[in-house]
Amino acid sequence: MKRVCILPGDGIGPEVIGCATSVLKAATDHLEFVEGSIGQSAFEAHGAYLPDETLDLMKSSDSTLFGAVTTPGAPDYVSPVLKFRKELDLFANLRPVRSFARTGASGPIDVVIVRENSEGMYTQNEVFDDTGVTTMRRVTRRACERIIGFAIDYAVRGGRSSICCVHKANVLKASDGLFLSIFRNMMSGAGSTLKADEQLIDSAAMHLVTDPARFDVIVTLNMYGDILSDVAAGVAGGLGFAPSGNIGPKHSVFEPAHGSAPDISGTGKANPTAAILSGAMMLRHLDMAETALSIERAVASAYSSGHLTFDLGGRHGSESFTEHVLRAMRSRETL
Ligand code: ATP
Repeated sequence: MKRVCILPGDGIGPEVIGCATSVLKAATDHLEFVEGSIGQSAFEAHGAYLPDETLDLMKSSDSTLFGAVTTPGAPDYVSPVLKFRKELDLFANLRPVRSFARTGASGPIDVVIVRENSEGMYTQNEVFDDTGVTTMRRVTRRACERIIGFAIDYAVRGGRSSICCVHKANVLKASDGLFLSIFRNMMSGAGSTLKADEQLIDSAAMHLVTDPARFDVIVTLNMYGDILSDVAAGVAGGLGFAPSGNIGPKHSVFEPAHGSAPDISGTGKANPTAAILSGAMMLRHLDMAETALSIERAVASAYSSGHLTFDLGGRHGSESFTEHVLRAMRSRETL
């Protein structure tokens, strides 16, 4: 039995995580669930965006499934997401993006973006003076080696064929140059059949839209990975299609890549696909690959049978789409 910490969070978080949890419960009896609070709702109830009890629950569980948090305007606000990534040493952000029948905007896409999660532009280290603000961007040898090693290992184990290093080393010669040179060294020493490729971030963004099939696995720095993941999600059909995993040596947190979407929260129109697929990613991480596959197939089957969600111009909200996924899982079981 594996223990999963559920953190619904704010906005559409509870709606889509509710759908994902019901799919997980239907898929397997080998999970037990504990629920914690995070975000605005946690602040209102406990005076902290990431209460200590929540962090303890995350640490004592085998994995966490998290929804989304609303970002308040307060200037001293520190994102609970950045905080748990740091506290749990979740150095790798894994974002697989694939389109299903009827969902892709510009041809099929099946790419995995491996994003460095612990430094770069996201250290929230900004220094103000009279003339403006300086943002510190840190790129360390250790973080580059860890994320590139993770990407190689992931690609080899997943039977992938190539890794593309995305960077801006023509301008950021020292920092991105370090990342690129470590990539070249590690790929040449990897001794695998993996093909090594390189692209500047601007050209990679264009090619993801015009020719997504040229990418397999992408490894990149924190902010580039954040932006590219949303580009790829857009190509696959929208933010409602992008699951993600934050992975470290001991802990892992899976979450839909989208935010709390306050504009559609409470309408029942959120697409739960990203949350359901995040649950499937979590199962794969917990060595339950077959169960993960059964969920992914059921999602694909719901789309290929024409059950389209509102974000695709269809008429299915979170609950009715999830009902079709559950039906597809049941009908496979009885085959
Ligand atoms: P936050 O401040 O929490 O990041 P946001 O609205 O700025 O919220 P997202 O939540 O990522 O950012 O939403 C961006 C856009 O994508 C919104 O218009 C939202 O309605 C839409 N969107 C996000 N997730 C989904 C989803 N699961 N289904 C349908 N539309 C979605």
